[in-house]
Amino acid sequence: MLKVTLKDDSVIEVKKGTKIIDVAKKISEGLARVATCGEVNGEVKDLRFELEDDCNLVIHTFDSSLEGKQAYWHTSSHIMAQAVKRLFPDVKFAIGPAIKEGFYYDFDVEKPFTDEDKAKIEEEMKKIIKEDVKIKKFSLPKKEALELMKDQPYKQELIEELPEGEEISFYKQGDFTDLCAGPHLESTGKVKTIKILSSSGAYWRGDEKNKMLQRIYAISFPKASQLEEYLHLLEEAKKRDHKKLGKELELFMIAPEGPGFPFFLP
Ligand SMILES: [Zn+2]
Repeated sequence: MLKVTLKDDSVIEVKKGTKIIDVAKKISEGLARVATCGEVNGEVKDLRFELEDDCNLVIHTFDSSLEGKQAYWHTSSHIMAQAVKRLFPDVKFAIGPAIKEGFYYDFDVEKPFTDEDKAKIEEEMKKIIKEDVKIKKFSLPKKEALELMKDQPYKQELIEELPEGEEISFYKQGDFTDLCAGPHLESTGKVKTIKILSSSGAYWRGDEKNKMLQRIYAISFPKASQLEEYLHLLEEAKKRDHKKLGKELELFMIAPEGPGFPFFLP
């Protein structure tokens, strides 16, 4: 048996090889329902991670920490990628991380997404959530990983850079598989509300010599009320935007010809 020390210093004993999600279930079904990832001796791990030694374990939820939110948002980014793949089958995928507030995914598509495209993508994301697609993790050796991603040049480039012998992990949900270190939720239905916020061009690897990709920013929450509150705060922040206030107060303005430098007004 292993000794697992929890955040409140209590210790529970579990069998070697117990998954983090099963430790959560042992603590309470309620916790297991909202758990998004774990942290073993300070390292963020997937809920599927199997404990092999005595350890300290923190179980994160969306509401408990940024790590908890980011696992939730990263899964949401895969939901967005799957939705885009269904609507634009020729899409090439770049990367799709969680950020401080929400997540984005960079796509190589023929032309920038229109508002209509984004509305369709959001609808498709909601469908994928309703379908509650199971998310499975698997690993491959480099050669097979490259073969699996043969139609995805950006993923191939990322795989090529991984050191020889390193575990190359993938997450698969239905018809969509992504090269990914995780962690991820167990199924798409764990995400409750999702909203596309904006889109912009973004160079692959942030380098202007590379191809311009299309980035979509979005956010998701376990409760509809949390999304409403977030959107309200965004509106409030817009009202206080320095670019808007500077002009209104006749302090400075920013001209489209030089978005990087403000002009002081008389
Ligand atoms: Zn990922």
